[in-house]
Amino acid sequence: MTTVLSDTRIAASLAGVGKSFLVKGRQVDALRDVDLDIHEGEYIVIVGPSGCGKSTLIRCIAGLESPTTGSITLNGRTVYDAERHVDIKTNDRNLGMVFQNYALWPHMSVERNVAYPLRMRKIGKGERERRVASVLTALECEPLATRLPAELSGGQQQRIALARALVYEPEVLLLDEPLSALDALLRITLRTELLQLHRSLGFTALHITHDQEEALEMGDRVVLMREGHIEQMGPPAEVYRRPISPYAAHFLGVRNRLTVTRTARALQHAGKLIPGTGPLSDRVTDESSTLQLFVRARDTHVFHREAAPPTSDHQIDLEGVLSQVVLGEGGREQYVVDIDGHAWFAQHAEGSGLAEGQPIVVRVASDLALLYQGESLISI
Ligand code: ADP
Ligand code: MG
Repeated sequence: MTTVLSDTRIAASLAGVGKSFLVKGRQVDALRDVDLDIHEGEYIVIVGPSGCGKSTLIRCIAGLESPTTGSITLNGRTVYDAERHVDIKTNDRNLGMVFQNYALWPHMSVERNVAYPLRMRKIGKGERERRVASVLTALECEPLATRLPAELSGGQQQRIALARALVYEPEVLLLDEPLSALDALLRITLRTELLQLHRSLGFTALHITHDQEEALEMGDRVVLMREGHIEQMGPPAEVYRRPISPYAAHFLGVRNRLTVTRTARALQHAGKLIPGTGPLSDRVTDESSTLQLFVRARDTHVFHREAAPPTSDHQIDLEGVLSQVVLGEGGREQYVVDIDGHAWFAQHAEGSGLAEGQPIVVRVASDLALLYQGESLISI
């Protein structure tokens, strides 16, 4: 996919973008040296915890905030350059914007809300009506045309906000947590609708969320941010499979973590060698650095210690005690295993009748285990 994309045009480009705020005499670096190219037609999702700079990034692209350093280009036109003092106004950047709080005009009907950006751009009445009808049809919102925002549900309001942003065919659509205010079920429905709309209309999108699941499901590429900079960027499958740092693994929901040390033969935890970790241990280059083993619950199997089949070289075994059986994701049983005081989550139990308090083997295929040396991924 990346090779195909490199032939397409760049719709938006950020180079060395930084933004600092002075808060009570203290400098807060909301963005630090951000480089990002968004290809035409791409759906990019920026994800990261609250306060990592996502909104500041989108606000800089929109012209609602002026970066302290760097430059921003939209379809080849420089709209911001800190050094050359270029700063094109928001209204002249031809961007669509959708925010978490729909921000519709409360006294205007749906139709008039959606027509508003066209009226601002002095588009004639006939053309205005045609384009409003067309975008409302695309979003299946024609029956709502004469209603006021207060007469709409949250989901309907967000669809109208989207219609209003798309009606003038912006070069890039910016969406700041567009689904976060909606309830869980509607959020999932709207994800699919947004993607279908993206596919049929072909706009370029920059979508922000703090929800890793939303990011992985929606993004052609996912951009993970950390304290104002880009920690990792890539297609969702790659980001999911190879979180580049312990931070990325943690943010992407890799729940099990164990601090381990290296010996000549294998990794060890709490003074005990971990079978199956010899090959992983061989990759460690700096023995003094902290080593962290991360594994997803879904990649973990548990066995009663007496019933565990013999292990192979491609499997890692950890010993613990079953402390709890809980109902996890999708109503499936999840096993919480105590490994020397650390809770380890597993999704698969082999053999029936596991009871709390039993001695357990936790088994993981070694090619699914993520080993970090300091900040770097050294396995898979
Ligand atoms: P996110 O959208 O990822 O939650 P923001 O971009 O809103 O994060 O904020 C990033 C950082 O910049 C935070 O520390 C926030 O407090 C700070 N910040 C954002 N906007 C302002 C502002 N107008 N004045 C001062 N600090 C700000
Ligand atoms: Mg935000």
